[in-house]
Amino acid sequence: MANRKQVPEIAASTCRHVHRLIVERFDRELCPDEENRVDLHIAACHDCLVFYDQLTLIHKAMEALRQGLAG
Ligand SMILES: [Zn+2]
Repeated sequence: MANRKQVPEIAASTCRHVHRLIVERFDRELCPDEENRVDLHIAACHDCLVFYDQLTLIHKAMEALRQGLAG
């Protein structure tokens, strides 16, 4: 009876996939399906949310640096 596995949407492999999408997001535009997957996942997975936040911060810092250098 207790054999019902409760595998949540957030499996380890999904985290890895989402990590990759988060990284790729800065290089290319994700399709709406991928965007959706990332959004849904980081809303429920703290690890990936932290990863996303850190990457966004780094990206912003790099962007600011580039603009500073360009000016
Ligand atoms: Zn995750």
